[in-house]
Amino acid sequence: MKQVNYIIVGQGLAGTILAQTLLNQNKSILIIDDVSLSQASRIAAGLYNPVVFKRLVKSWMADELLPFMDGFYADAELLLNTKFYFKKRIVKPFAEEQERILWDKKVNEDVGKYLSKTIHDDFLNDIIYNPLGVSEILFGGNLNTAVYLDSFRNYFKQNNFLLEEKFDYNQLIISDNKVVYKNIEADKIIFCEGYKTIDNPYFSWLPFKLTKGEIITIKINDAIINEEFVLNKGVFILPLGNNTYKVGATYEWNDLTEQTTEKGKIDLIDKLNKVLKVKFEIINHEVGIRPTVIDRRPLIGLHPQHNSLAVFNGMGTKGVMLAPYFAKHFVDFMAGEIALNNEVDIARFENNG
Ligand SMILES: Cc1cc2nc3c(=O)[nH]c(=O)nc-3n(C[C@H](O)[C@H](O)[C@H](O)COP(=O)(O)OP(=O)(O)OC[C@H]3O[C@@H](n4cnc5c(N)ncnc54)[C@H](O)[C@@H]3O)c2cc1C
Repeated sequence: MKQVNYIIVGQGLAGTILAQTLLNQNKSILIIDDVSLSQASRIAAGLYNPVVFKRLVKSWMADELLPFMDGFYADAELLLNTKFYFKKRIVKPFAEEQERILWDKKVNEDVGKYLSKTIHDDFLNDIIYNPLGVSEILFGGNLNTAVYLDSFRNYFKQNNFLLEEKFDYNQLIISDNKVVYKNIEADKIIFCEGYKTIDNPYFSWLPFKLTKGEIITIKINDAIINEEFVLNKGVFILPLGNNTYKVGATYEWNDLTEQTTEKGKIDLIDKLNKVLKVKFEIINHEVGIRPTVIDRRPLIGLHPQHNSLAVFNGMGTKGVMLAPYFAKHFVDFMAGEIALNNEVDIARFENNG
C-alpha cells in the first residue's frame, strides 16, 4: 500500500496550485487526473486584473491576492526553471465619454492605485478604433496556463506524483481519518475537478452556476501589438508573439456542452471588428466550462459528514488570481492553524447537502 498525506483529484489550475502549496509545506501527494475531462484551465488566457472593468472598483480581495500570487508564481518559475508569469499593461480604450469621466473620478479613490493617471489620445491609432483615448490598469498581467500546467505535469510525472486516469468513485473507501483508493492510502482526498464536480457523488450538491466560455486565436499580418500590452474593449486581445493573439471570451449559461459554436465565434468576431482596424484570420477556436458559483466565491472545505473528503473548487472566472492565496489559506486551515474564511467555506451551503 502506498501512503501519502493527500490525494488530489484533478490537475487543472486548482489542483496544480494546491499541489504546489502542499509540496511547499513538505506534504506528500498523489494527483489523479484524466486531462481529457475538462479544458478550462488549459485554454484560459490566464489574465489577472485587480479592477472590475465596468464599475472601476477593486476586484474582490485584490490587495491581498496580488502580492501573494507574485511570490507564488515566481517560486514556481524558479522550481521549474520556466517562464510563464508576465506583468502586462492592461489598456482600456474608452467606449463612451462617461467612462472617461468615471476614470478621472476613480483615480482619486482607493482603487486609484491600480489606475494610471495618464490618458493617451493617440495610442495604436493605426491599429485600433480609439476616438476617446485610452488609459491603463496597473499591476495586471497573465499566467501562460498551458505552460504552467504542462511544466508541473512533467515535474509530477518525474517524481511519481501523478496517476493518469479517470477517478473511479466506486473504488474509494472512506473512514474517519483516512481514505483508501485502490492501493493508495491518504489522510484526505481533495477534489479539484472543476465543473466535473457536478458528477461527484459527494459534492454534487454544491451550487455551481456554470459558465461556458469560447476563445479564439487570431493572426494579424499587417500590424503588431506589443507583447507588453493586453487590450480590453468588449473583448480582450492578448498578444502571444509571432503575430498571434488570444481573443475572448464569451459567457454562456444555457448550452453547457464542451463544444465550440458558430454563435460564439461570430460574437467574438463582431466585438473584434469594433476594436480592430486591421484584418485578421482565425487560426484556433477553443472552449471550456468555468466552475462559477451562484455567489461568485470559491468552494473550499471539508465534506459535512466525512472529514477525510475535501473540495478546492469554484475559482470561477479568476482561477489565476484566487487559487494561490486560497490554497495556502486552505492548507493552513487543514493544519489546524486558522479558521476558514466564511465567504469561501462550503459550510455556507451545507443545507443543500
Ligand atoms: C474561455 C475561458 C477563458 C478564461 N480566462 C481566464 C482568465 O483570463 N483568467 C483566469 O484567472 N481564469 C480564466 N478562466 C477561468 C479558469 O479557467 C478557471 O478559473 C480554472 O480553469 C478552474 O480550474 P479548475 O482546476 O478548478 O478546473 P478545470 O480546469 O476544469 O480542471 C479540472 C481538472 O480535473 C480533471 N478531472 C475532472 N474530473 C476528473 C475525474 N473524475 N478523474 C480525473 N480527472 C478529472 C479535468 O480533466 C481537469 O484536468 C477562463 C475560462 C474559460 C473557459
